[in-house]
Amino acid sequence: MSGFFLALNPIVKMNYEVLFSEIHAKIKEEKNNGKVAGYIPELKLVDPSKFGANLIFINGGTYNYGDALERFSIQSISKVFSLVLAYKLVDEKLWKRVGVEPSGTAFNSLIQLEYEKGIPRNPFINAGAIVISDILITYLKHPKDDFLAFVRKLANNETINYSHTIAKSEKEKAYTNYALIHLMKSFKNIKNDIEEVMDFYFHLCSIKMNCEEISKAFLFLANDGKLEHTNEQILTKAKSKRINSIMQLCGFYDEAGEFAFRVGLPGKSGVGGGIVALYPNRYCISVWSPKLNAKGNSFLGTRFLEVFTTEIEESIF
Ligand code: GLN
Repeated sequence: MSGFFLALNPIVKMNYEVLFSEIHAKIKEEKNNGKVAGYIPELKLVDPSKFGANLIFINGGTYNYGDALERFSIQSISKVFSLVLAYKLVDEKLWKRVGVEPSGTAFNSLIQLEYEKGIPRNPFINAGAIVISDILITYLKHPKDDFLAFVRKLANNETINYSHTIAKSEKEKAYTNYALIHLMKSFKNIKNDIEEVMDFYFHLCSIKMNCEEISKAFLFLANDGKLEHTNEQILTKAKSKRINSIMQLCGFYDEAGEFAFRVGLPGKSGVGGGIVALYPNRYCISVWSPKLNAKGNSFLGTRFLEVFTTEIEESIF
């Protein structure tokens, strides 16, 4: 740990809130070319200066900084919840419909999908999450209600909800996502009605949560698949490992390598500016800063996590 941050660490008990404010003060002075996502009109309305972070440890200890308790649109972070639920429901059959390789392309790219005959590279690019939505519609009785109930259970919070305004706003401009689903339908990798699948997809992306709620909802993946507050095994240890490895390799689209190099944790980002990352058997950390880099990942959020894991010297590598 560098001298700058060592001053904050009185030997054993780290004051994480102070550490967070020091990191934030340092990085917000750096050059930031990020831009708030503009292609979903409703997302443009967010205040670009918002910044929140939460750190939560297995077996206790939660630390909030800045706007950690303000809800925002989690967008693609939700794709981890939908993948987990689909994996629970259909087991290994899932991988016939979607791959587990990094895409090396943008989250909404059409190019690979034609070459690869409508089988998306992984469940986190939009095409993959749309196939997962199709699977959930087939298996869930009340897809939107059942999915929301699942997220609420993970976060232990009954107030988490969809934003119908954001879902509607995304639908109005979703030309590329419609192109993806039509292409996959032509390859017979979409079984249900296109409008029904897209409505579910827009809603799952529209969920609003704050940093603390996101960290709590992801903590089971740092805890070998077990929910701390109920002891329920959400996923087996082996399946939990697989979700984490997909996050490591695919959680940041064509920037997964850069994120692993700089931060060294599995995680997932969303175009609302949120990022969640976790250290198995240790902690889960979430950050929110709406301005995105050219790859669609939070600019300051990534930088914050980079400085955090570098300074506390705790990453999986
Ligand atoms: N709902 C967004 C979309 O489909 C999600 C993208 C993201 O967060 N990377 O474009």
